Amino acid sequence: MIRIGQGYDVHRLVEDRELWLGGIRIPYEKGLLGHSDADVLIHALCDALLGAAALRDIGYHFPDTDPRYKGIDSKLLLAETVRLITECGFRINNVDVTVMAQQPKINPHIPDMCNVLSGIMGIPQDCVSIKATTTEKLGFVGRGEGMAALAVALIEK
Ligand code: MG
Repeated sequence: MIRIGQGYDVHRLVEDRELWLGGIRIPYEKGLLGHSDADVLIHALCDALLGAAALRDIGYHFPDTDPRYKGIDSKLLLAETVRLITECGFRINNVDVTVMAQQPKINPHIPDMCNVLSGIMGIPQDCVSIKATTTEKLGFVGRGEGMAALAVALIEK
């Protein structure tokens, strides 16, 4: 059985926060705001994986009202998500993620992100695709107010 899922997430960019994206820290003057480390890429990915297994969403499993998840490394949320879908008998075939950010440049960091995320998901690096785009200075992303991410995941059992 093959199943597909999609995920979408947005976080606000603010000063005095570290920027965590795709499981790595990127040097930048601002960071994403959230209850966890606000890694928008991983959150969209978790929602795609959960969606493919029809296991609700990241907010259902890891509520932002729960102090256990305050400041948590989103890599731990991804690991737990992988555990949840694996428990249902699924394995991950491939994932494809698009990050929307006006700044900083994401492309130089993509190989590191793929390395980290493929390790957590237990799949080969060439099954993890990460892409980045600006929004041509349009909308909240283009004004640098936040970042968004879209993800698609294919899983099977
Ligand atoms: Mg989020």
